[in-house]
Amino acid sequence: MSIQSNLDIIKSGLPEHVTLVAVSKTKPVSDLMQAYEAGQRIFGENKIQEMTDKWEEMPKDIQWHMIGHVQSNKVKFMAPYVNLIHGVDSLKLLQEINKQALKNNRTIDCLLQIYIAEEESKFGLDESELNELLTSAEFKELKNIRILGLMGMATFTENKNQIKKEFTHLKSIFDSIKNSDGYGKDSLQRFSTISMGMSGDYQLAITAGSTMVRIGSSIFGGR
Ligand SMILES: *Cc1c(COP(=O)(O)O)cnc(C)c1O
Repeated sequence: MSIQSNLDIIKSGLPEHVTLVAVSKTKPVSDLMQAYEAGQRIFGENKIQEMTDKWEEMPKDIQWHMIGHVQSNKVKFMAPYVNLIHGVDSLKLLQEINKQALKNNRTIDCLLQIYIAEEESKFGLDESELNELLTSAEFKELKNIRILGLMGMATFTENKNQIKKEFTHLKSIFDSIKNSDGYGKDSLQRFSTISMGMSGDYQLAITAGSTMVRIGSSIFGGR
């Protein structure tokens, strides 16, 4: 199957309110260009250096999403162009993103990564850390970032009930923030995105309320 037909099949199955991020990590620019020529404009990468190389080489109407874990000292390399950072999981990182955004005279959109899996290795905030972050005085001072929503990864398992439970948990955290008056409204004005779902579980994620799916291997093949 070609990249184009993989994309067509996936896109035809996505509800209109769900955004597709084509996860192109480790894949060569020639593969990304096939997706580009098929109309895809949002690409997700998990390494800043690799994303920056691709950004330099590829058409400038692409939106680049950083979906991997971000080290503070590398934020500056993507700050001029990155469109959305999915994996933000600390105030310190948010402060660095704000600083680099300011230097580039822009506002950078972010998602806060929430820990929903059972696995020990996954990054992210738990619900009380999220609360603490969003209500802190330091957070309210950050004028060059916007929090567009939340991101999460389910446990890598065959157990669909488990995955569904984890996605539903993320959706309920999202709803409780969205519906609360307790947070400074300004910083959460555009809070509307739930990034969850990958090749193996995106249908479950959409059923549970995802608005943004991150799909790699089903488009580009295995890595
Ligand atoms: C690699 C990756 C994906 C895509 O995974 P596939 O199973 O290839 O669809 C999605 N999200 C994150 C954070 C990833 O690192």
